[in-house]
Amino acid sequence: QTSLTRLVDVSHLVYEHAMWVDDLLAFQERCRALQPRRSGLPAPGTVRIITLDDVTFTYPGKDTPALNGISMTLHAGQTVAFVGVNGSGKSTCARLLAGLYEPQEGGTVTWDGVNVLDLDAESLQARVGCVLQDPVRFPFSALANLTVSRGTLTEADPRRALEAARASGAEQVIAALPGGWEALLSKRFRGGHELSAGQWAKIAVARGLYKNAPVLLLDEPTASMDPRAEHAVYEAVLRDNPRSDQITVLISHRLASVVPCDRVFVFDGGRVIESGTHQELMNLGGEYAAMFTLQADGYRAEAGETA
Ligand code: ADP
Repeated sequence: QTSLTRLVDVSHLVYEHAMWVDDLLAFQERCRALQPRRSGLPAPGTVRIITLDDVTFTYPGKDTPALNGISMTLHAGQTVAFVGVNGSGKSTCARLLAGLYEPQEGGTVTWDGVNVLDLDAESLQARVGCVLQDPVRFPFSALANLTVSRGTLTEADPRRALEAARASGAEQVIAALPGGWEALLSKRFRGGHELSAGQWAKIAVARGLYKNAPVLLLDEPTASMDPRAEHAVYEAVLRDNPRSDQITVLISHRLASVVPCDRVFVFDGGRVIESGTHQELMNLGGEYAAMFTLQADGYRAEAGETA
């Protein structure tokens, strides 16, 4: 109970500061007392299968569970999408599968058959790349913004940084800066270059790709991007950049972006109510099909076409 409460305490702070796993450790330097100190086996360098079995989770002080009996299996090489209305449990589920929260009431999360509670928390976090809607804006150079690892500066691999920037669309943003990759970002630096939300989002996606971790969580990373930039990012992440050893989880409200995903999980009230490929869910004619049709009609109306 204590360790659960601690985890949630930290994650709440992290949430408020718009940080996530990748930035957690840096933040924890400043609030050591709250740090989850769970130690155990080092997490494996690669992950073939993540399994959630009957996972339930209630935030402290809440009456209703945020997740209620979720079971799913994710395989390396797959990109899966979590969709559903706000508050349906998508982000909570992503945090649980990454081992950031502990399941309650006997549910388990396993990585290649090993319960995540038996894995060392820090090494687990090192295996997860995370891109959030409102990412951290490091007052570092453009290059260091991509290659910063768990809040600390490490030796950068410029070739890998360029590949990641190209895939996310950050390359053009960086090229336009005086000083390019060496340009200092963030208004927290005197003379630093502040970027728009959409430009920071591209940097954050590039950071997630650069990390090259076995698990990549993308929690509405393109919410602040224009449609063209969003399309380019999804093309890069979902099509041009398939990694056979990575499990990618995409949380998105724009259903057009989840069409090429290997599997879509539809959340409602802390449960998964439908899952399958886009086509399977369209054939099912349930909640997903209704949401998709609604959005598609909206796009057609915006384009001035008749449905
Ligand atoms: P989604 O990602 O689908 O929008 P979330 O997983 O963020 O849904 O939230 C699921 C439920 O858990 C919601 O009722 C939300 O209010 C609650 N919740 C999310 N984060 C926290 C938190 N840090 N503390 C307390 N309740 C939370």
